[in-house]
Amino acid sequence: MFDKILIANRGEIALRVLRACKELGIPTVAVHSTADADAMHVRFADESVCIGPPAAKDSYLNIPSILSACEITGADAVHPGYGFLSENARFAEILAEHGVQFIGPKAAHIRLMGDKIEAKRTAKKLGIPVVPGSEGSIGSDQEASKIATEIGYPVLVKAAAGGGGRGMKVARSASELSLALSTARAEAKAAFGDDAVYLEKYLERPRHIEIQVLGDGEGHAIHLGERDCSLQRRHQKVWEEGPSPALNAGARDAIGETVAKAMRDIGYLGVGTVEFLYEDGKFYFIEMNTRIQVEHPVTELITGIDLVKAQLLIASGERLPYSQSDVQIRGHAIECRINAEDPVSFRPSPGKILHYHAPGGLGVRVDSAVYQGYSIPPYYDSLVGKLIVHGKTRTECLMRLKRALDEVVVDGIETTLPLFRALVREKDIIDGNYHIHWLEQFLASGGMES
Ligand code: ADP
Repeated sequence: MFDKILIANRGEIALRVLRACKELGIPTVAVHSTADADAMHVRFADESVCIGPPAAKDSYLNIPSILSACEITGADAVHPGYGFLSENARFAEILAEHGVQFIGPKAAHIRLMGDKIEAKRTAKKLGIPVVPGSEGSIGSDQEASKIATEIGYPVLVKAAAGGGGRGMKVARSASELSLALSTARAEAKAAFGDDAVYLEKYLERPRHIEIQVLGDGEGHAIHLGERDCSLQRRHQKVWEEGPSPALNAGARDAIGETVAKAMRDIGYLGVGTVEFLYEDGKFYFIEMNTRIQVEHPVTELITGIDLVKAQLLIASGERLPYSQSDVQIRGHAIECRINAEDPVSFRPSPGKILHYHAPGGLGVRVDSAVYQGYSIPPYYDSLVGKLIVHGKTRTECLMRLKRALDEVVVDGIETTLPLFRALVREKDIIDGNYHIHWLEQFLASGGMES
């Protein structure tokens, strides 16, 4: 096992990793920007190093500073959390060149899955069903038009380097294609410095269902069931749950085994998530994320498996600590991402938390790095915390979520808590009857204004 782990992240995920390290008896190093000097992950770590000014590019994305922090503290491994450098293959390589272990997949797999066109090609080769679309990146508008006619409108233009829902534009007919291409290209260029785009059939009412995997890099890999992340706003997940209300055990085992076999075939190492759209009983691969995800607690609650500890064990060279038969799905879990945003306009609302009270009781988990008196800085994402509840059944889980939401107090800033309090009362949500556009439609129809 590692002697000392440096956590190259902030907020709730830095705290989450810290907790796993502590439970394994591994000393920790927090890094932080000047804006985060008072952050909880800095207080709880054994050591801390300031790595730069507030802007992420000068601190949490500053590879030389993070390397120096490893050298100064003698950390022999880095956990990148999610976001920031977590899917930066070059970062993993640079660490290795300096004798520091990156806690994550092999650099080649990060690179492969970071290019969504290559990822899709690989998925197809491995026998994973993909969304119909262009074979590779799109050259001219004429070529795009030809392919779009073949796959049939509506089509979705997507950025090869995409992430966070950026660089994605729908064209409902041939007349909309040229504008969709140029806007997606411009957005992709601005966000990722790469304007390569590809085409996909636009699915009208799919669910987003993703499979959690775990591999040891030596050909052993298992799946840990699915999470349903269909409740999204601007392609960003808002509410995640598992198991999906739309799957039965047979469908789960079939797609899970397809994915696990693919991971065995490529010798995948660490945790990963294979994302699908699911419509009319069929799965369509969209991408793979090669990191721990925001919504990983859903899986932890229904399987009882600590995914971050598993990451640490595997990265330190141990064999896979579980076999497929150890994975038993028990009960139901739901996660709400509570953001510092106005619940109607979704305008960010950074600032000082004047009063804070976290919910508790059986089956309630709060992953958050805020406290009373803490000021949410304006420089980073607006996550206040994640409320994750577990129940024996989906019905119990929903009732527990409702009462837990009623217990939370966050005063001084606007949060999206009212959105979740409204959602748990909606019939479609109670029935599990929703798809990826449901939330946008609910908001557009004034669901939060009444
Ligand atoms: P990103 O990497 O930017 O998150 P994804 O490929 O994971 O992009 O897609 C994010 C979300 O965008 C999906 O969960 C889904 O809501 C929507 N989406 C992606 N591809 C399609 C598609 N072919 N048809 C309809 N919606 C899609």
